[in-house]
Amino acid sequence: MEIRIQGVSKRYFSEGKAIIALDDVDLTIPANQIFTLLGPSGCGKTTLLRCIVGLETPDSGEIRIGGEVVWSREKNIAIPPEKRGLGMVFQTYAIWPHMNVFDNVAYPLQVRKLPADVIRRKVGKTLRFVRLEGFEKRPATKLSGGQQQRVALARALVGEPKVILFDEPLSNLDAKLREETRKELRTFLGELKITAVYVTHDRVEALALSDTIAVMREGRIIEVGAPRKIYFDADHRFVADFIGRANLVKAKVRGHDDGHTIVDCGLGAIACHGRDLPAGSEVTLCIRPEFIRIAKGEGGAGRNVVNGRVESLVFVGETYEGEIRIGNELLLAKIDPDVDLKAGDPVRFSLDPAHCLLLAI
Ligand code: ADP
Ligand code: MG
Repeated sequence: MEIRIQGVSKRYFSEGKAIIALDDVDLTIPANQIFTLLGPSGCGKTTLLRCIVGLETPDSGEIRIGGEVVWSREKNIAIPPEKRGLGMVFQTYAIWPHMNVFDNVAYPLQVRKLPADVIRRKVGKTLRFVRLEGFEKRPATKLSGGQQQRVALARALVGEPKVILFDEPLSNLDAKLREETRKELRTFLGELKITAVYVTHDRVEALALSDTIAVMREGRIIEVGAPRKIYFDADHRFVADFIGRANLVKAKVRGHDDGHTIVDCGLGAIACHGRDLPAGSEVTLCIRPEFIRIAKGEGGAGRNVVNGRVESLVFVGETYEGEIRIGNELLLAKIDPDVDLKAGDPVRFSLDPAHCLLLAI
Protein backbone atom coordinates (compact mmCIF):
# COMPACT_ATOMS: atom_id res chain seq x y z
CA MET A 1 0.00 0.00 0.00
CA GLU A 2 1.23 3.41 -0.89
CA ILE A 3 1.40 6.02 1.85
CA ARG A 4 0.97 9.63 0.88
CA ILE A 5 1.82 12.45 3.25
CA GLN A 6 0.92 15.98 2.24
CA GLY A 7 1.74 19.19 4.05
CA VAL A 8 2.07 17.54 7.44
CA SER A 9 3.39 19.78 10.21
CA LYS A 10 3.67 19.14 13.93
CA ARG A 11 4.77 21.45 16.69
CA TYR A 12 5.32 20.63 20.33
CA PHE A 13 5.29 23.13 23.13
CA SER A 14 7.74 22.63 25.91
CA GLU A 15 8.64 25.10 28.67
CA GLY A 16 6.86 27.88 26.80
CA LYS A 17 8.82 27.30 23.60
CA ALA A 18 7.59 25.83 20.32
CA ILE A 19 9.56 22.94 18.83
CA ILE A 20 8.94 22.31 15.15
CA ALA A 21 9.10 18.50 14.91
CA LEU A 22 7.67 18.30 11.37
CA ASP A 23 7.83 21.18 8.96
CA ASP A 24 5.41 20.84 6.02
CA VAL A 25 6.37 17.29 5.07
CA ASP A 26 5.39 16.02 1.62
CA LEU A 27 6.32 12.42 1.02
CA THR A 28 5.10 9.46 -1.00
CA ILE A 29 6.11 6.03 0.27
CA PRO A 30 5.69 3.57 -2.60
CA ALA A 31 3.87 0.27 -2.07
CA ASN A 32 5.78 -2.94 -1.25
CA GLN A 33 9.13 -1.34 -0.58
CA ILE A 34 11.41 -1.05 2.40
CA PHE A 35 11.38 2.71 2.84
CA THR A 36 13.71 4.24 5.40
CA LEU A 37 13.51 7.56 7.18
CA LEU A 38 17.12 8.39 8.04
CA GLY A 39 18.35 11.37 9.97
CA PRO A 40 20.09 12.56 13.12
CA SER A 41 18.46 12.22 16.50
CA GLY A 42 15.70 14.78 17.01
CA CYS A 43 14.99 15.42 13.31
CA GLY A 44 11.38 14.22 13.53
CA LYS A 45 11.53 10.58 12.40
CA THR A 46 9.55 9.14 15.30
CA THR A 47 7.02 11.96 15.11
CA LEU A 48 6.40 11.26 11.43
CA LEU A 49 6.03 7.52 12.07
CA ARG A 50 3.61 8.17 14.94
CA CYS A 51 1.56 10.48 12.72
CA ILE A 52 1.28 7.71 10.10
CA VAL A 53 0.27 5.17 12.75
CA GLY A 54 -2.19 7.59 14.38
CA LEU A 55 -0.48 7.79 17.77
CA GLU A 56 0.23 11.47 17.16
CA THR A 57 -2.04 14.15 15.73
CA PRO A 58 -0.46 16.50 13.19
CA ASP A 59 -1.29 20.22 13.21
CA SER A 60 -2.05 20.31 9.50
CA GLY A 61 -2.01 18.31 6.29
CA GLU A 62 -3.32 14.99 5.11
CA ILE A 63 -2.23 11.35 5.33
CA ARG A 64 -3.49 8.62 3.01
CA ILE A 65 -2.81 4.92 3.24
CA GLY A 66 -3.61 2.97 0.10
CA GLY A 67 -5.73 5.81 -1.23
CA GLU A 68 -7.83 6.09 1.93
CA VAL A 69 -7.57 9.30 3.90
CA VAL A 70 -6.69 8.29 7.47
CA TRP A 71 -6.08 11.77 8.73
CA SER A 72 -7.05 15.21 7.43
CA ARG A 73 -7.45 18.42 9.34
CA GLU A 74 -9.39 20.04 6.54
CA LYS A 75 -11.77 17.11 6.00
CA ASN A 76 -11.97 16.45 9.71
CA ILE A 77 -10.97 12.80 9.33
CA ALA A 78 -9.07 10.93 12.04
CA ILE A 79 -9.15 7.14 11.72
CA PRO A 80 -7.98 5.59 15.02
CA PRO A 81 -4.69 3.61 15.01
CA GLU A 82 -6.31 0.17 15.36
CA LYS A 83 -8.43 0.79 12.25
CA ARG A 84 -5.48 1.76 10.03
CA GLY A 85 -4.37 -1.84 9.36
CA LEU A 86 -0.78 -1.28 10.43
CA GLY A 87 1.78 -3.24 12.44
CA MET A 88 4.50 -1.56 14.44
CA VAL A 89 7.82 -2.62 15.98
CA PHE A 90 9.37 -0.24 18.49
CA GLN A 91 12.88 0.49 19.67
CA THR A 92 12.30 -1.18 23.02
CA TYR A 93 11.15 -4.72 22.37
CA ALA A 94 7.79 -3.96 23.93
CA ILE A 95 7.09 -7.61 24.50
CA TRP A 96 5.36 -8.55 27.70
CA PRO A 97 7.74 -10.24 30.12
CA HIS A 98 4.99 -11.98 32.09
CA MET A 99 3.68 -13.76 28.97
CA ASN A 100 5.11 -16.62 26.97
CA VAL A 101 5.96 -16.35 23.28
CA PHE A 102 2.57 -17.64 22.08
CA ASP A 103 0.58 -15.19 24.21
CA ASN A 104 2.77 -12.27 23.20
CA VAL A 105 2.16 -12.94 19.53
CA ALA A 106 -1.51 -13.88 19.99
CA TYR A 107 -2.34 -10.72 21.91
CA PRO A 108 -3.45 -8.49 18.99
CA LEU A 109 -5.76 -11.27 17.76
CA GLN A 110 -7.19 -11.87 21.23
CA VAL A 111 -8.02 -8.17 21.47
CA ARG A 112 -9.95 -8.60 18.22
CA LYS A 113 -11.72 -11.58 19.81
CA LEU A 114 -10.94 -14.04 17.02
CA PRO A 115 -11.86 -17.70 17.64
CA ALA A 116 -9.18 -19.70 19.47
CA ASP A 117 -8.47 -22.09 16.58
CA VAL A 118 -7.99 -19.18 14.15
CA ILE A 119 -5.60 -17.56 16.62
CA ARG A 120 -3.64 -20.80 17.01
CA ARG A 121 -3.32 -21.21 13.26
CA LYS A 122 -2.26 -17.61 12.61
CA VAL A 123 0.23 -17.52 15.48
CA GLY A 124 1.70 -20.85 14.35
CA LYS A 125 2.14 -19.58 10.81
CA THR A 126 3.75 -16.32 11.97
CA LEU A 127 6.13 -18.05 14.39
CA ARG A 128 7.20 -20.38 11.58
CA PHE A 129 7.85 -17.35 9.45
CA VAL A 130 10.14 -15.69 12.01
CA ARG A 131 11.75 -19.07 12.79
CA LEU A 132 10.50 -19.32 16.35
CA GLU A 133 8.57 -22.54 15.89
CA GLY A 134 8.75 -24.64 19.05
CA PHE A 135 9.26 -21.57 21.28
CA GLU A 136 5.52 -21.11 21.99
CA LYS A 137 5.68 -21.97 25.70
CA ARG A 138 8.98 -20.20 26.42
CA PRO A 139 8.64 -17.20 28.78
CA ALA A 140 9.50 -14.07 26.78
CA THR A 141 12.24 -13.16 29.24
CA LYS A 142 14.08 -16.44 28.56
CA LEU A 143 14.93 -15.43 25.01
CA SER A 144 18.01 -13.73 23.55
CA GLY A 145 17.75 -10.11 22.42
CA GLY A 146 17.52 -11.18 18.79
CA GLN A 147 14.76 -13.70 19.56
CA GLN A 148 12.83 -11.11 21.56
CA GLN A 149 13.03 -8.79 18.59
CA ARG A 150 11.62 -11.58 16.38
CA VAL A 151 8.73 -12.00 18.84
CA ALA A 152 8.03 -8.28 18.48
CA LEU A 153 8.16 -8.68 14.69
CA ALA A 154 5.80 -11.68 14.85
CA ARG A 155 3.34 -9.71 16.96
CA ALA A 156 3.40 -6.86 14.46
CA LEU A 157 2.85 -9.29 11.56
CA VAL A 158 0.25 -11.64 13.01
CA GLY A 159 -2.69 -9.40 12.13
CA GLU A 160 -1.52 -9.40 8.48
CA PRO A 161 -1.02 -5.64 8.31
CA LYS A 162 -0.98 -3.74 5.03
CA VAL A 163 1.98 -1.75 6.25
CA ILE A 164 4.58 -2.47 8.90
CA LEU A 165 6.48 0.31 10.65
CA PHE A 166 9.72 0.06 12.58
CA ASP A 167 11.19 2.64 14.93
CA GLU A 168 14.92 1.94 15.44
CA PRO A 169 14.16 -1.73 16.15
CA LEU A 170 17.79 -2.85 16.31
CA SER A 171 19.30 -0.07 18.38
CA ASN A 172 19.18 -2.05 21.65
CA LEU A 173 21.11 -4.99 20.21
CA ASP A 174 24.89 -5.30 20.39
CA ALA A 175 26.87 -4.70 17.18
CA LYS A 176 27.19 -8.32 16.05
CA LEU A 177 23.59 -9.25 16.77
CA ARG A 178 22.44 -6.05 15.11
CA GLU A 179 24.16 -7.09 11.91
CA GLU A 180 22.66 -10.59 11.99
CA THR A 181 19.17 -9.34 12.80
CA ARG A 182 19.45 -6.75 10.04
CA LYS A 183 20.12 -9.51 7.52
CA GLU A 184 17.21 -11.59 8.84
CA LEU A 185 14.90 -8.62 8.70
CA ARG A 186 15.90 -7.94 5.10
CA THR A 187 15.04 -11.57 4.27
CA PHE A 188 11.72 -11.49 6.15
CA LEU A 189 10.63 -8.24 4.56
CA GLY A 190 11.73 -9.39 1.11
CA GLU A 191 9.51 -12.47 1.46
CA LEU A 192 6.55 -10.52 2.80
CA LYS A 193 6.25 -8.02 -0.01
CA ILE A 194 4.43 -5.44 2.07
CA THR A 195 5.15 -1.78 2.57
CA ALA A 196 7.70 -1.34 5.34
CA VAL A 197 8.56 2.04 6.82
CA TYR A 198 11.80 1.90 8.76
CA VAL A 199 13.20 4.62 11.00
CA THR A 200 16.88 4.77 11.89
CA HIS A 201 19.74 7.18 12.53
CA ASP A 202 22.23 4.49 11.47
CA ARG A 203 23.43 5.09 7.93
CA VAL A 204 24.83 1.57 7.44
CA GLU A 205 21.51 0.08 8.49
CA ALA A 206 19.70 2.38 6.07
CA LEU A 207 22.03 1.52 3.19
CA ALA A 208 21.88 -2.22 3.86
CA LEU A 209 18.12 -2.56 4.32
CA SER A 210 16.35 -0.06 2.16
CA ASP A 211 14.92 0.09 -1.31
CA THR A 212 14.52 3.84 -0.84
CA ILE A 213 15.96 6.23 1.74
CA ALA A 214 14.49 9.60 2.72
CA VAL A 215 17.01 11.74 4.56
CA MET A 216 15.49 14.07 7.15
CA ARG A 217 16.82 17.13 8.90
CA GLU A 218 15.10 19.47 11.33
CA GLY A 219 11.59 18.28 10.52
CA ARG A 220 12.03 18.27 6.76
CA ILE A 221 12.67 15.70 4.08
CA ILE A 222 15.91 16.78 2.41
CA GLU A 223 16.37 14.13 -0.24
CA VAL A 224 14.79 10.84 -1.34
CA GLY A 225 16.52 8.15 -3.39
CA ALA A 226 17.84 4.62 -3.74
CA PRO A 227 20.78 3.80 -1.41
CA ARG A 228 23.35 3.95 -4.22
CA LYS A 229 22.03 7.27 -5.44
CA ILE A 230 22.09 8.75 -1.93
CA TYR A 231 25.59 7.42 -1.27
CA PHE A 232 27.29 8.10 -4.60
CA ASP A 233 25.31 10.91 -6.10
CA ALA A 234 23.54 12.96 -3.45
CA ASP A 235 22.28 16.41 -4.38
CA HIS A 236 22.76 17.95 -0.94
CA ARG A 237 25.91 18.47 1.03
CA PHE A 238 24.13 17.50 4.26
CA VAL A 239 23.04 14.18 2.74
CA ALA A 240 26.47 13.33 1.28
CA ASP A 241 28.06 14.09 4.63
CA PHE A 242 25.48 12.23 6.72
CA ILE A 243 25.37 9.01 4.68
CA GLY A 244 29.07 8.27 4.88
CA ARG A 245 32.50 9.65 5.57
CA ALA A 246 33.28 12.35 3.07
CA ASN A 247 36.05 14.77 2.23
CA LEU A 248 34.38 18.07 1.43
CA VAL A 249 36.48 20.61 -0.44
CA LYS A 250 35.39 24.10 -1.48
CA ALA A 251 35.62 24.50 -5.26
CA LYS A 252 34.62 26.75 -8.17
CA VAL A 253 33.38 25.55 -11.54
CA ARG A 254 35.81 26.36 -14.36
CA GLY A 255 33.90 24.72 -17.20
CA HIS A 256 32.93 21.47 -18.85
CA ASP A 257 34.98 19.03 -20.83
CA ASP A 258 34.15 15.67 -22.34
CA GLY A 259 31.15 15.06 -20.04
CA HIS A 260 33.09 16.12 -16.96
CA THR A 261 32.77 19.28 -14.94
CA ILE A 262 36.15 20.86 -14.22
CA VAL A 263 36.59 22.70 -10.94
CA ASP A 264 39.42 24.68 -9.37
CA CYS A 265 40.09 23.88 -5.73
CA GLY A 266 42.84 23.35 -3.22
CA LEU A 267 43.74 20.06 -4.93
CA GLY A 268 44.27 21.77 -8.30
CA ALA A 269 42.03 21.55 -11.38
CA ILE A 270 39.88 18.45 -10.87
CA ALA A 271 37.65 16.75 -13.44
CA CYS A 272 34.44 15.67 -11.72
CA HIS A 273 31.31 13.68 -12.40
CA GLY A 274 29.48 15.92 -14.87
CA ARG A 275 26.93 18.28 -13.41
CA ASP A 276 24.97 20.99 -15.14
CA LEU A 277 26.45 23.99 -13.33
CA PRO A 278 27.52 27.29 -14.89
CA ALA A 279 31.16 28.41 -14.83
CA GLY A 280 31.92 30.44 -11.70
CA SER A 281 29.49 28.49 -9.47
CA GLU A 282 30.67 27.95 -5.92
CA VAL A 283 30.38 24.25 -5.17
CA THR A 284 31.59 21.59 -2.77
CA LEU A 285 33.68 18.72 -4.06
CA CYS A 286 32.89 15.49 -2.22
CA ILE A 287 35.32 12.56 -2.31
CA ARG A 288 34.77 9.48 -0.16
CA PRO A 289 37.94 8.15 1.56
CA GLU A 290 37.57 4.73 -0.08
CA PHE A 291 38.03 6.33 -3.50
CA ILE A 292 41.33 7.90 -2.67
CA ARG A 293 43.52 4.97 -3.63
CA ILE A 294 47.06 5.15 -2.50
CA ALA A 295 49.06 2.24 -3.83
CA LYS A 296 52.66 1.17 -3.53
CA GLY A 297 55.29 2.80 -5.74
CA GLU A 298 54.67 5.48 -8.33
CA GLY A 299 50.90 5.80 -8.15
CA GLY A 300 48.85 8.36 -9.98
CA ALA A 301 48.59 8.36 -13.70
CA GLY A 302 46.06 9.92 -16.04
CA ARG A 303 43.52 12.42 -14.84
CA ASN A 304 43.31 14.28 -11.56
CA VAL A 305 46.81 13.51 -10.33
CA VAL A 306 47.34 14.97 -6.87
CA ASN A 307 50.59 15.31 -4.93
CA GLY A 308 50.47 15.37 -1.17
CA ARG A 309 52.17 14.30 1.99
CA VAL A 310 51.10 11.79 4.66
CA GLU A 311 50.17 13.71 7.78
CA SER A 312 49.06 10.77 9.91
CA LEU A 313 48.32 7.06 9.63
CA VAL A 314 46.12 4.91 11.82
CA PHE A 315 45.86 1.14 11.46
CA VAL A 316 42.20 0.06 11.75
CA GLY A 317 42.42 -3.59 10.69
CA GLU A 318 41.44 -3.93 7.08
CA THR A 319 43.12 -0.66 6.04
CA TYR A 320 45.14 2.24 7.23
CA GLU A 321 43.25 5.47 7.61
CA GLY A 322 45.55 8.19 6.49
CA GLU A 323 45.32 11.95 6.50
CA ILE A 324 46.91 13.39 3.39
CA ARG A 325 47.96 17.03 3.36
CA ILE A 326 47.65 18.91 0.06
CA GLY A 327 48.36 22.59 0.71
CA ASN A 328 45.58 23.80 3.00
CA GLU A 329 43.43 20.74 2.43
CA LEU A 330 43.52 17.62 4.57
CA LEU A 331 41.97 14.52 2.98
CA LEU A 332 41.03 11.31 4.72
CA ALA A 333 42.10 8.28 2.67
CA LYS A 334 42.00 4.52 3.01
CA ILE A 335 45.39 3.03 2.38
CA ASP A 336 46.22 -0.62 1.67
CA PRO A 337 47.86 -2.16 4.75
CA ASP A 338 50.70 -3.54 2.62
CA VAL A 339 51.71 -0.08 1.43
CA ASP A 340 54.91 0.96 3.14
CA LEU A 341 54.27 4.54 4.21
CA LYS A 342 54.90 6.65 7.25
CA ALA A 343 53.98 10.14 8.36
CA GLY A 344 55.87 12.74 6.34
CA ASP A 345 56.21 10.62 3.18
CA PRO A 346 55.22 12.22 -0.13
CA VAL A 347 52.37 10.50 -1.99
CA ARG A 348 50.94 10.82 -5.44
CA PHE A 349 47.51 9.55 -6.35
CA SER A 350 44.80 10.05 -8.93
CA LEU A 351 41.10 10.60 -8.42
CA ASP A 352 38.57 8.90 -10.68
CA PRO A 353 36.27 11.68 -11.98
CA ALA A 354 33.30 9.31 -11.51
CA HIS A 355 33.92 9.51 -7.75
CA CYS A 356 34.48 13.25 -7.58
CA LEU A 357 30.99 14.42 -6.78
CA LEU A 358 29.93 18.05 -6.95
CA LEU A 359 27.38 19.40 -4.51
CA ALA A 360 25.71 22.68 -5.22
CA ILE A 361 23.38 22.79 -2.19
P1 ADP B 1 13.75 11.54 16.15
O1 ADP B 1 12.85 10.34 16.24
O2 ADP B 1 14.20 11.85 14.76
O3 ADP B 1 14.91 11.44 17.08
P2 ADP B 1 11.47 12.95 17.30
O4 ADP B 1 10.40 12.83 16.29
O5 ADP B 1 11.40 12.05 18.48
O6 ADP B 1 12.90 12.83 16.60
O7 ADP B 1 11.51 14.44 17.85
C1 ADP B 1 11.52 15.59 17.01
C2 ADP B 1 11.60 16.82 17.88
O8 ADP B 1 10.42 16.97 18.64
C3 ADP B 1 12.73 16.80 18.89
O9 ADP B 1 13.25 18.09 19.02
C4 ADP B 1 12.05 16.34 20.16
O10 ADP B 1 12.75 16.81 21.29
C5 ADP B 1 10.69 16.97 20.03
N1 ADP B 1 9.64 16.19 20.69
C6 ADP B 1 9.26 14.92 20.39
N2 ADP B 1 8.24 14.51 21.16
C7 ADP B 1 7.95 15.56 22.00
C8 ADP B 1 6.99 15.77 23.02
N3 ADP B 1 6.10 14.84 23.35
N4 ADP B 1 7.01 16.98 23.65
C9 ADP B 1 7.90 17.94 23.31
N5 ADP B 1 8.81 17.79 22.35
C10 ADP B 1 8.86 16.63 21.68
MG1 MG C 1 13.08 8.60 17.37
